Amino acid sequence: MNEISEADVIVVGGGLHGTSSAFHLAMRGARVVVLEADYVARHSSGVNAGGVRTLGRPLPEIPLALMSRDMWHGMKELLGEDGGFVPSGQLKIAETEAELDACRERVALLESHGFTHEKVIDRQTVLELEPALAKHVTGGIWVERDGYALPYRTTTAFRLAAQRLGARFLEGTPVRRIEPRGARWTAQTPRGTFSAEKMLIASGAWSGELAMQAGESVPVHPEGLMLMVTHRVAPFCRATLGATGRPLSFKQFDNGTVVIGGKLIGIAELANRHGEVDFMRLVKSAQTVTDLFPHLRHLGVNRAWAGVEAFTEDELPVISASRTASNLYYSFGYCGSGFQLGPGCGKLVSELMLDGAPSLSLDAFAIDRFDTRAGSSQSDAATLVAH
Ligand SMILES: Cc1cc2nc3c(=O)[nH]c(=O)nc-3n(C[C@H](O)[C@H](O)[C@H](O)COP(=O)(O)OP(=O)(O)OC[C@H]3O[C@@H](n4cnc5c(N)ncnc54)[C@H](O)[C@@H]3O)c2cc1C
Repeated sequence: MNEISEADVIVVGGGLHGTSSAFHLAMRGARVVVLEADYVARHSSGVNAGGVRTLGRPLPEIPLALMSRDMWHGMKELLGEDGGFVPSGQLKIAETEAELDACRERVALLESHGFTHEKVIDRQTVLELEPALAKHVTGGIWVERDGYALPYRTTTAFRLAAQRLGARFLEGTPVRRIEPRGARWTAQTPRGTFSAEKMLIASGAWSGELAMQAGESVPVHPEGLMLMVTHRVAPFCRATLGATGRPLSFKQFDNGTVVIGGKLIGIAELANRHGEVDFMRLVKSAQTVTDLFPHLRHLGVNRAWAGVEAFTEDELPVISASRTASNLYYSFGYCGSGFQLGPGCGKLVSELMLDGAPSLSLDAFAIDRFDTRAGSSQSDAATLVAH
């Protein structure tokens, strides 16, 4: 089969991280081809909860999340389309005094590192913000500039903006094998072999296998994260909500529907490329919602689904140059929180690939960090993971 070699960069994967990286690379003048096994935004990046959340991030991710959040607020200027971004604020609710103490400790820890975006608020302020909440709440953490957006629309916006800059997207094009050939990287697909000077692996839950082909073993595993969406109900909640003591991600859209999730684990079928809902686990999540909003007890669920997401063992992504080969890069393993990071990480990846040095340190996300941990307790980065 012919080799197709008119690109400077091959991006493997058309999720938000692949499309955002392609956009930022194309903005810098690189000729980019994106190879996508299914279709752009088919997996996590098109089916997630849309939470644009700096709240609750592990410490090493916070600089990236804050940078990315600025980009969310300027999305319309950047892409000509805002991805449906609504700066609703994000509120993490405490339901007991002990949980409120945990919130205070979390915010004090952040402040000791110079981060002031999370604020502890008392019960009265929580109820002023969200009067429909059950009265047993004790307070929470509030981040005013966070919000939510529409995942499929956002990822498509990055794709279209990248295309306007000349990037090519080939869907239905699974990369079976990656290999260096001379000074170039090749990607073997059913459409032929593509080659380029540089390659980015942004293949979500499927990235581990491609990294392995380059001789890099990463402890990454898939999970099927679930969401459900309800029938329409009169407006009762403005902020995007989470809870301190139990899993919850909750928001009401302008059309009245409510999306409920919170890293609810269903079933991931990597080989069949899809996720399955575990309805018994969804029931537990519905219980959390009716505890917090008793008036929703009789609200029907319209549909539920699961998306396949990549998790690493230290709950941090891999955003890194290869340690075994030149001109090979990775951006994957976003552990259920990569939507918010998409705009910023794409920019940092483009800087890493084109300049060799990103404008924010990516050291905590190096691909070889798992090797150095073997036999020792935990690295500084892992110790700093505080949710
Ligand atoms: C239900 C759910 C709710 C979530 N909620 C939130 C949230 O509220 N906020 C938040 O910040 N994050 C959230 N996330 C996480 C977020 O969606 C992901 O972290 C992010 O979308 C990951 O993007 P990605 O581009 O790395 O991966 P993906 O979106 O999985 O994209 C990877 C792409 O690579 C393609 N691919 C794989 N292998 C190959 C190959 N060999 N050749 C070619 N293409 C290949 C796949 O088909 C896929 O399209 C949620 C995730 C899920 C599933």
